Amino acid sequence: MKEKLKNALVIGGGSAGLSAALTLARGGVAVDLVEKSGFAGGYGIQYGCKASPDCVMCGACSVEKLLKEAGEEPNIRMRLSSEVAKVEGAGPFSVTVAARKARILPEKCNGCGKCYERYGAAGLILRGPSHNNRPFYALAGNGEGVDPAVCPEAAIAAGASESIEKIAADAVVVATGFAPFDAAIKSTYGIGKFRNVTTGLEVERTRRQKGEVLRPSDGAVPSSIAFIQCVGSRDERLGNPWCSQVCCAYALRIGKSLKFRNPDTQVTVFYMDIQSVGKGFSAFYEECRKDFRFIRNIPVDVFPEENDRVRLMWAGEDGQRVEEAFDMLVLSVGITPNPGTVELAKITGLALNADGFLTAASERPGLFVAGTAGGPGNIAASIAEGGRAALEALKLMKEKK
Ligand SMILES: Cc1cc2nc3c(=O)[nH]c(=O)nc-3n(C[C@H](O)[C@H](O)[C@H](O)COP(=O)(O)OP(=O)(O)OC[C@H]3O[C@@H](n4cnc5c(N)ncnc54)[C@H](O)[C@@H]3O)c2cc1C
Repeated sequence: MKEKLKNALVIGGGSAGLSAALTLARGGVAVDLVEKSGFAGGYGIQYGCKASPDCVMCGACSVEKLLKEAGEEPNIRMRLSSEVAKVEGAGPFSVTVAARKARILPEKCNGCGKCYERYGAAGLILRGPSHNNRPFYALAGNGEGVDPAVCPEAAIAAGASESIEKIAADAVVVATGFAPFDAAIKSTYGIGKFRNVTTGLEVERTRRQKGEVLRPSDGAVPSSIAFIQCVGSRDERLGNPWCSQVCCAYALRIGKSLKFRNPDTQVTVFYMDIQSVGKGFSAFYEECRKDFRFIRNIPVDVFPEENDRVRLMWAGEDGQRVEEAFDMLVLSVGITPNPGTVELAKITGLALNADGFLTAASERPGLFVAGTAGGPGNIAASIAEGGRAALEALKLMKEKK
């Protein structure tokens, strides 16, 4: 008789969760991947390749690859628009999963886009960040205002209530990721007030969709751009003393690809220290030093200028006030704990560390943490942690056989 597969449940379908799910599935385990949003891939799938022209190892393509492979892996069942409500027992766990009833059914959606044509502009139907997202469309919210008859395949399930299912899992990997720092908290930078003050995340999304860094006000390529580093990181007053480990790298890579495509654009980086993370980064930084202006100072105030430009103010070397106007300002927002992990810590019994991230150590054997749910890290580190958590889970399942 064929041996019954062991089951594992992965919570969160970003870089870490996809990596964990694939490693488990390839180890012969049936995996339920529970993803809260309508699309898997987490933040990483929202970033574009930053090659300029050579690969700068930003990791964006590796998330694309994971998403494609997870979608094709028969041992992975992706449960989108779903959340974990309860984790009971002690391996095997009994996990209660609540799925939104109003959603687009992956088994029926053929990606024709009729729903998006009708409701996309109103923001009622969303398009996935990647063509590897299955389904490629999702309902925004509970689908109110969307007529299911718009879909010729009857793939739009209506109904606001949830469907509840209990799943038996021999191991659970928590990979629920992070929240980008909310730049509005640093109100003097004028986010939401000045049109050309934006965040690293918005720039990443624009690059992904349009292939360029563009001024939000008019869609033009900026002729001068400033990055302010450590926005929401290494800030004791905010209670965020940690380095986010990704902002230096993403800001420099974005600046480099902008400069490569538009050599006349002036790039200025305001920083405290450049954090060298990953292989080859120091050499890359040295290259950037030739192309950009680095100012070791963090401006505190931003003022509006003509033509939607912004004026930054900082203290010069001898303490005098220095001012300069830029076409566009990018706030390099960092990684903060996902607020949802507080509830998840209660549900799973996992503890939070002093910074509010989940601790890997669990009193319940069979429960693992991977990726930025446990603290700041880049895509490569999150993928590695997902794989590591899965290998530990596989080992435990083998021992229990
Ligand atoms: C602006 C910015 C730019 C960056 N650029 C780069 C870069 O160029 N290169 C790089 O290597 N790194 C970059 N990073 C870091 C990168 O985003 C992270 O390393 C990576 O996304 C971490 O993956 P993750 O799986 O841990 O978390 P996430 O990407 O946050 O994925 C977590 C997933 O879990 C889901 N989830 C959350 N809560 C629940 C729940 N309760 N139930 C079910 N699912 C849930 C989320 O919807 C999400 O899909 C950047 C970060 C920022 C802020």
